[in-house]
Amino acid sequence: MKIDFAVIGGSYAGMAAALQLARARRQVLVVDAGRRRNQCVDDHDGEAHGFLTQDGRAPGAIAEEARRQLRRYPTVHWMAGQAEDGRVAPDGRLEFRVGDVAISAGRLILATGVRDELPPVLVLPNAGDAAPSIARTATATSWTRAGSASSPPPRWPSITR
Ligand SMILES: Cc1cc2nc3c(=O)[nH]c(=O)nc-3n(C[C@H](O)[C@H](O)[C@H](O)COP(=O)(O)OP(=O)(O)OC[C@H]3O[C@@H](n4cnc5c(N)ncnc54)[C@H](O)[C@@H]3O)c2cc1C
Repeated sequence: MKIDFAVIGGSYAGMAAALQLARARRQVLVVDAGRRRNQCVDDHDGEAHGFLTQDGRAPGAIAEEARRQLRRYPTVHWMAGQAEDGRVAPDGRLEFRVGDVAISAGRLILATGVRDELPPVLVLPNAGDAAPSIARTATATSWTRAGSASSPPPRWPSITR
């Protein structure tokens, strides 16, 4: 598949980029693996805040509305899956693979978000992997601080790209 622009990551940032390209009548392919960072908020019936006109709305509903508006543009194409094996071809085009499908794009936008690596500061009920434990900070009714006086001081989570 050969396209003008590939946007890897179809959450808020990727869709915002794709919308501007669609307005400019470019052929855009959005590839999304479906792991929006705030998915855990929806999983706990939570709300998004501080986003003008959307305050108090479920984050999944905001993303769904964005996707609906984006799909009205005929030059936007959507592919669910994980983009892998990216490389620059000899002719300068960007190539990658989604499953068995090879994609060649003139330009590439990476909107893959960040991954939270949480320190063991909060011990929350049934704390599991990183994303659900973030949601539990918002919904838990009780928590205890990990470690003891001899433990190293707590640090802020590091964020990696
Ligand atoms: C618990 C929690 C609560 C939050 N609450 C708020 C709030 O109230 N208000 C607010 O403004 N913000 C809030 N945020 C922050 C908000 O979620 C992020 O700012 C926002 O999701 C960032 O959007 P993004 O598009 O940059 O990345 P993300 O939402 O992380 O999306 C990245 C997308 O890229 C996809 N992707 C990654 N790699 C690939 C690949 N190789 N191939 C294909 N797809 C790929 C992922 O599957 C994902 O869909 C919250 C975050 C958390 C964790």
